Amino acid sequence: MSIEIPDHVMELDRRDSLAGFRENFNRPETFNGEKCIYLCGNSLGLQPAEAEEFVRLEMEKWAKMGVEGHVKGKYPWMPYHEFLTEKMAEITGAKKEEVVVMNSLTVNLHLLMVSFYRPVPGRFKILIDYHPFPSDRYAVESQIRFHGFDPKDAMIELQPEPGTAYVSKKQIEDTFDRHGDQIAMTLIGGVNYYSGQLYDMKFITDLAHKHGAIAGFDLAHAAGNVPLKLHDWGADFAAWCSYKYLNSGPGALSGIFVHERHAKRFDLPRFAGWWGHDKETRFKMGPDFVPMPGAEGWQLSNPPILPMACMQASLNLFHDAGMEALRKKSKKMISLCEELVKDLEGEKIELITPKNPEERGCQLSIRVKDARRDLFDRISARGVIADWREPDVIRIAFAPLYNTYAEVYEFTQILRDSIDE
Ligand SMILES: *Cc1c(COP(=O)(O)O)cnc(C)c1O
Repeated sequence: MSIEIPDHVMELDRRDSLAGFRENFNRPETFNGEKCIYLCGNSLGLQPAEAEEFVRLEMEKWAKMGVEGHVKGKYPWMPYHEFLTEKMAEITGAKKEEVVVMNSLTVNLHLLMVSFYRPVPGRFKILIDYHPFPSDRYAVESQIRFHGFDPKDAMIELQPEPGTAYVSKKQIEDTFDRHGDQIAMTLIGGVNYYSGQLYDMKFITDLAHKHGAIAGFDLAHAAGNVPLKLHDWGADFAAWCSYKYLNSGPGALSGIFVHERHAKRFDLPRFAGWWGHDKETRFKMGPDFVPMPGAEGWQLSNPPILPMACMQASLNLFHDAGMEALRKKSKKMISLCEELVKDLEGEKIELITPKNPEERGCQLSIRVKDARRDLFDRISARGVIADWREPDVIRIAFAPLYNTYAEVYEFTQILRDSIDE
């Protein structure tokens, strides 16, 4: 069943300076037998068409050169992670020395907490996000127990305004007023995975610092979604994955940020491995660990080249498009969607993502009245790939690199039809 797109929506696509980027992605053409509308870039970003070629290059190098590939070819493996750093720093608003790509997200959260969660009696609490991603909660709880504290006393969860999913600045301030002198560290999502709320990370960082706490962020839903200025905001550390908005492939690698003020904090506890060892002397294979300054000093292992090759293809696209332009388009897409479903709000659905464009990224979380999961099943049957979060939320994301305004319109029509069915 094809949907007729109104002129004013087609015009938005015609005028879209980023429209050409869609062709740089491979995407599912059909889903459930219908034309696919892919709105799940917040869960797994689509495949950059160039990714295969970047991977092929490294497969070929391995085939033809064996171990020599570490030092030869266009992108020698030894410094391969360095080819990603600059563009990742661009995306996160960091200095090159503050960023490195390594491991997976939850692994990195642990490694960073080893260094930055230093509880003492009297100051041992971790402030986590409202409705945190389960992995973050498990990681934080286990760190707290590891240090001999009880998560029941030591883990505080941000609370939303009563009856909503919205965490106001007032709620955050009140939490610090109540627990401030006991909070050792924060681990807040830059964008909340459930509600899609974008936090003011500078505000949280300043507040944490004012109260003597370390400001850490999980940017899984923020990196590649909204412009970040980690260095200027002064965050202490952050980590994010790259398979969501950053389109680097299933299970792809994570990035970390460590502010330059900690670059030479060799006194901090850290779990060490040879890849964090000073580059110049690493291959002397000596017995003493000499950490590199900056984020690279947190690396453990020599990195997996193939997922990094995928990431190169993706980061090139972000570099070419620019986060500011992407942000501009994603704001317009979300506003269009909001406008088109306005009349459905109230009785049938409720948007739990903040209305203020400065407080959200490119995800909308739609709470379905009476937890009608059949509504989600119906839109799926019409070709929409979105996701369902128990008990009653449909999450959709319009990724400005590859989604179109026409898809925004199609989605809203499908939602409308499905509600009426
Ligand atoms: C996606 C996501 C994760 C997933 O962690 P992995 O270690 O990459 O499996 C963790 N935390 C948040 C907030 C996420 O959105």
